[in-house]
Amino acid sequence: MWSPDEIARLCYNRFNELPKRGKPELGREWTLLAAVVKLSEAQSQCQPKRKIVEKEVVSLGTGTKCIGQSAMSPRGDVLNDSHAEVIARRGFVRYLTEELRRAVVGEGSRVFCPGDETGKWRLLDGVLFVFFTSHTPCGDASIIPMTDSQSQPCLPVGTEEGTDGTNEAPGVTVGGGALRRLMEEEEEEGGGACKRPWLDTEEEEEEEEEEEEEASPKGRHSPAKRSAKDPDIPALGEQAKDVHRTGAKCVPGAPADPREGGPGYHSVGALRVKPGRGERTRSLSCSDKMARWAALGCQGALLSHYLQGALRFSAVVTGKCPYSPEAMRRALSGRCAHVTGLPAGYELQPVQLLQSSVEFTHSQGETERCHQQGQGRVSPCGAAISWCAVADQPLDVTANGYKQGVTKTYLGTEKSRSLICKAELFHCFLNLLAVTEDSQLPPSLRGKELSTYWDYKRAAQTYQQAWLQLRTQAFPLWLRCPRDLLLFQ
Ligand SMILES: [Zn+2]
Repeated sequence: MWSPDEIARLCYNRFNELPKRGKPELGREWTLLAAVVKLSEAQSQCQPKRKIVEKEVVSLGTGTKCIGQSAMSPRGDVLNDSHAEVIARRGFVRYLTEELRRAVVGEGSRVFCPGDETGKWRLLDGVLFVFFTSHTPCGDASIIPMTDSQSQPCLPVGTEEGTDGTNEAPGVTVGGGALRRLMEEEEEEGGGACKRPWLDTEEEEEEEEEEEEEASPKGRHSPAKRSAKDPDIPALGEQAKDVHRTGAKCVPGAPADPREGGPGYHSVGALRVKPGRGERTRSLSCSDKMARWAALGCQGALLSHYLQGALRFSAVVTGKCPYSPEAMRRALSGRCAHVTGLPAGYELQPVQLLQSSVEFTHSQGETERCHQQGQGRVSPCGAAISWCAVADQPLDVTANGYKQGVTKTYLGTEKSRSLICKAELFHCFLNLLAVTEDSQLPPSLRGKELSTYWDYKRAAQTYQQAWLQLRTQAFPLWLRCPRDLLLFQ
C-alpha cells in the first residue's frame, strides 16, 4: 500500500515545491529534512471494491541548529531547538490544532471525528500518520555499530563544526574531523559533563511540562549503566569493530561516555543533549524527543485535552544514510518498553521502523559530493523552514529561533515570532478553546480558571500522569524547564 521510498520521494518533492527562501545553497550548504505524512484509506473510483491509500505531506521541517541557553526566552517567542525533526513536529501540532478547530466548529475535519466522551476527539477510521526523517536522529540512534569493512577515519560523512556560534545537528558523525570536534568541545567546556553552570539556577518543579529540554543531575538512576543489563536495551553487537559517533553528550548526572577506542566509545541508551560550540544548549537529542513522542504521542500536553488518548506516528521512515535498525529500535522504543502503569489511552504500541534507499539532495554527503572548488566551505544551512498544511501562512522561515530577516528593531515583538514557537502554538490552542461551546469543552478544561501556558499544560492530567510514569521508569534524568520560562499568557 505504501513503501518507504514512496514516503521519502513525497517528502523530497514537497520540499522541492517550496519557494527558495531558507533553502540551502546547492553544493555548499547542507540541511536535514523531516516531515509528517498523512495516510488515509479511500475507495478507488474505478474499482469501488478496492481500497487505495491517499498520501499527503501535512508538515515539513528543515534545520540543523539549536540556540544556547542564554538565548531562551520567558515569553515563549523563540524556537530553542530547530533540528528538522522538532520543526516538523511543531508544524504538525499547528496542523492538528487547525484540524481540531474545523472539527469543533463543524467545518468538516479530514482528520478527526467525535470520540466516546463529549469534548474528546479521535482519528477518523483509516487515517494514520508516518514520520519521515532524511537522516538518523541525533543522539542514541546515531550510535551505530560499524562492520569490518567500514573504518572510522575514512568514511566521507564526517563534519567540521560551523564557526558562526550557533550549534548544529550532530547527526551521525565519523572520521577524524568529528573526533577532533568532540575533543575540542570537551576542552571548551572545561572538562565536559562535570561543568554545568546553568544548573545552579534551575528551579525544580513537581509538575512536568511537555517541552522540558533540560537535564537534571538529581536522578538516581543511570540509563547508561542500566543498558548493560536491561534486556530492552540491546548493547552493541559483539562483532562491531567500531561505532558511528554522535556529537550529543550524555546529560549531566549520567556517566560520561567512556571514549574508549572502537565500539566502547559511547554509552548506549543514555539521554543526550545537543552539542554546542561555545555555549551549551538545553535541548535533548532528537532520539530522546522521538522516544518521548513514541510513548506519549506527538500531540503534546495542550492538545491532549481534546484527544482521546495519545496520537502516535504509526511508522518512522528514515532516508538513505548511516542507519542501524537495532540502534533505532533501542533509541526510539527499547528504552521505554518496560514502562508500566500508563493511563488508559497511553498504553504503549509498537512503532514500525523502516529505511528508504532514496537520499536527500541536500544531505551532508550529497552536498560534499557536489561541492566544487571555489564554492566556499561546505557548511550547514543556518535557516529552518517550517511548512504545514494550513490555509493561513503555511510557510515559516526562521534563523536563530526567530523569523529570518527580522531586524533588531522588531526582535521581541510579535512580528519576529515564528508561527510554531510556544507562544504562537499556545495562542492557536486558546483560539480553539474560544470557539468551543461550553457544553462541548473537554472534561479537563470545564470550570477551570487557567491563565498561563504552564497552567494549561499542568491541567492535562492524564498526559501528565503518563509522562510521570515514563519519566520515573525510563528517563529519570530528563528534567524540567525552569518554570519562569513557561509562565507567559
Ligand atoms: Zn537532531
